[in-house]
Amino acid sequence: MIQFQDKQLTIFRSQLFKTTSTVIETEDCILLVDPNWLPQEIETIQAHIAKIQSGRPLYLLFTHSDWDHIIGYGAFPDAIVIASEAFQKRADKEQIVEQIRTFDDNYYIDRAYSLSYPTVDIVIQHEKQTVTIGETTITFYLANGHTNDGLFAIVEPLGIWIAGDYLSDVEFPYIYDCSFAYEETLAKVDVILQQHNIHYLIPGHGNMTMEIEEIKKRQRDAATYIKALRKCIEQEKDSEYLIAGYAYPRNMREFHKGNIRLMQAEN
Ligand SMILES: [Zn+2]
Repeated sequence: MIQFQDKQLTIFRSQLFKTTSTVIETEDCILLVDPNWLPQEIETIQAHIAKIQSGRPLYLLFTHSDWDHIIGYGAFPDAIVIASEAFQKRADKEQIVEQIRTFDDNYYIDRAYSLSYPTVDIVIQHEKQTVTIGETTITFYLANGHTNDGLFAIVEPLGIWIAGDYLSDVEFPYIYDCSFAYEETLAKVDVILQQHNIHYLIPGHGNMTMEIEEIKKRQRDAATYIKALRKCIEQEKDSEYLIAGYAYPRNMREFHKGNIRLMQAEN
């Protein structure tokens, strides 16, 4: 289940949708991001944290409110939860939890913890807000477009960039919020690379990269997809070619169609 591991960073990857769960270990704290999917996978993450924690506080960051990213919340009741203000203020919290219940019912899944929407302890309200825990600093950037409550988190001095559902190498942009907001979020890649010394980029789905050129390529690919799709919609042209290079077309085509519907409504 481990996609990558070094001294201070462990990236778990679920069997479902290549979803990542990240554990960062510093002298001051343990930071866990979006622990997810199957009961055994979450138990593996719990066991890993129990093994390394040795008295340090556990912080639990949610990159955004999609149900697959908050599914493991109840398994870490003692964690200090960090998420955006929009995440905290959502009006549809019960519907999000209901999506998890539907998934669990569909696959006859039992969990050893109860399901609920996360209560946020540290609310991220503005761009470049920082949370400092001893020598560890986390800088947040608001990342909207995929959803309207996303965050980028830069953990320093390690140079780890937690990207949520942006900058994936397996998915094109999934736009549930707004394509223009998505483009603004992508533009922040330049700012972040200028202002931080990035050693790792970890997307919510897919593979971590340590290459700056690869981060820029992912930014370019996503921006190109959105621009080209907007043009196809304006000119009423077929846009299927835009997702030809991606795996899992039987599933991904539905997300592409969702993008088309959302962007048609924006025109
Ligand atoms: Zn996701």
